[in-house]
Amino acid sequence: MAVMAMAAALRGPSGRFRWRTQATAGGVRGSARGAAGRQDYNLLVIGGGSGGLACAKEAAQLGMKVAVVDYVEPSPRGTRWGLGGTCVNVGCIPKKLIHQAALLGGMIRDAPHYGWDVAQPVLHDWRKMAEAVQNYVKSLNWGHRVQLQDRKVKYFNIKASFVNEHTICGVTKGGKETLLSAEHIVIATGGRPKYPTHIEGALEYGITSDDIFWLKESPGKTLVVGASYVALECAGFLTGLGLDTTVMMRSIPLRGFDQQMSSLVTEYMASQGTRFLKHCTPSRVQKLPDGQLQVTWEDLTSGRENMGTFSTVLWAIGRIPETRSLNLENAGINTSPNSQKILVDAQEVTSVPHIYAIGDVAEGRPELTPTAIMAGKLLARRLCGQSLDVMDYSNVPTTVFTPLEYGCVGLSEEEAMARHGEEHVEVYHAYYKPLEFTVAERDASQCYIKMVCLRKPPQLVLGLHFLGPNAGEVTQGFALGIKCGASYEQVMRTVGIHPTCAEEVAKLRISKRSGLDPTVTGC
Ligand SMILES: Cc1cc2nc3c(=O)[nH]c(=O)nc-3n(C[C@H](O)[C@H](O)[C@H](O)COP(=O)(O)OP(=O)(O)OC[C@H]3O[C@@H](n4cnc5c(N)ncnc54)[C@H](O)[C@@H]3O)c2cc1C
Repeated sequence: MAVMAMAAALRGPSGRFRWRTQATAGGVRGSARGAAGRQDYNLLVIGGGSGGLACAKEAAQLGMKVAVVDYVEPSPRGTRWGLGGTCVNVGCIPKKLIHQAALLGGMIRDAPHYGWDVAQPVLHDWRKMAEAVQNYVKSLNWGHRVQLQDRKVKYFNIKASFVNEHTICGVTKGGKETLLSAEHIVIATGGRPKYPTHIEGALEYGITSDDIFWLKESPGKTLVVGASYVALECAGFLTGLGLDTTVMMRSIPLRGFDQQMSSLVTEYMASQGTRFLKHCTPSRVQKLPDGQLQVTWEDLTSGRENMGTFSTVLWAIGRIPETRSLNLENAGINTSPNSQKILVDAQEVTSVPHIYAIGDVAEGRPELTPTAIMAGKLLARRLCGQSLDVMDYSNVPTTVFTPLEYGCVGLSEEEAMARHGEEHVEVYHAYYKPLEFTVAERDASQCYIKMVCLRKPPQLVLGLHFLGPNAGEVTQGFALGIKCGASYEQVMRTVGIHPTCAEEVAKLRISKRSGLDPTVTGC
């Protein structure tokens, strides 16, 4: 690229950065004007998602001159969206709203038990739901632009790549190039869903989570390939909306999560009608003359080949960090050879001292919105000299929004055993029946709580796992206690709120070690 050669020429013989504005015949625009060390901005943030926006807004509020560049490369299906990143557009927000739509279906089924006369049949209109969700997301896109404007953060809708360690080149949708320079650069470019590279028809006919929330029409009978939380959440809400849904997984569900809890999650989903094809892997997707997709897969247990027909194939087999087009080598930024994520230290600093990486693109960080936001804010405060606080990534709570929600904080039972040794770990557990399930005659077989503790008194809580209604709300509350170093004894001394599911946590008396069957509690 012409810009790269030009920028290279601008580096002095000592390699020190010397930046001058130049417009080329190719139409490069640049506003930098200073000599060595003088840049356009104090801080340039690449990526206007959860982490990037939080960092930019905080830094601007603390007096820095800040710019954010954000650009959404359309998905292979052509889906595109606005400012705000994955969470707002193709992640947490539309996911939770559609999960809510699915839960409402369950409540409508419960309603007659509580005296409501619900006219049958009750139908769901995907088009209406999608329009409402998409309109809300668009309002958030707009809100983010307004917030940037209010805080005097300059926003560029350009795709950035590094020219050198202080300069990026941004390209607009129309191909216009802009050069921007800054003293500090934060990379917060997140990740995108992975497509399989070796499966015929996968890219051509499949969609991902980048598309599902923006479909105008119902996806119909769907095959979800993958066992990630994204796979299970999507399959969960599709089933809840009444669609014929199958999950195909090669190995275990929810890798990295507590495996007992993960099995209960899929058991409940199966009881609600989601079909599971375990130990199977797809080999081909073909489009039939009627537009349906014929999927061929191998059953890894029997070695047999099978076929099925679906309206939609959704790949949820993991995500890849957005580092490929950043030309990180021009700035000397190191990435992990395995994950392609950017290597950072505890201060979020990359291999280049004034360049930082936060959120999903950074190696070893949880792929969650609140951690990206907090890391971004704390980084901004450090850059402005307001604080020395670094992000603490331990005991981060999270929830998988499957039909029966699974919330957890701290270590899984497997991790606790591996770290502390089986003999030093005590696990308290109980099945419970949510009060709201009783009158509605819902099956509560998978409503389960597990608290993983150190065995030695006062039995520090290492992990809490909660499977049941409103798991996110329950887990968020207990996360504070666990972050503050709560022990089993302290949790047992915590007075419950009656009648709730959360109070069941404070009633866990039977330990797995005691060998007794877990209690079934509840109102
Ligand atoms: C389906 C789904 C559900 C999820 N649900 C949850 C949930 O319930 N709770 C939760 O905490 N997390 C959830 N997540 C994860 C969460 O969305 C991410 O962890 C979070 O958005 C990461 O923020 P980020 O700032 O690192 O990156 P992102 O939010 O992905 O933002 C990166 C931005 O950078 C832009 N960009 C990339 N490259 C360039 C470039 N070269 N130039 C300019 N701009 C660029 C991207 O287009 C994007 O706008 C979910 C994710 C998915 C996919």
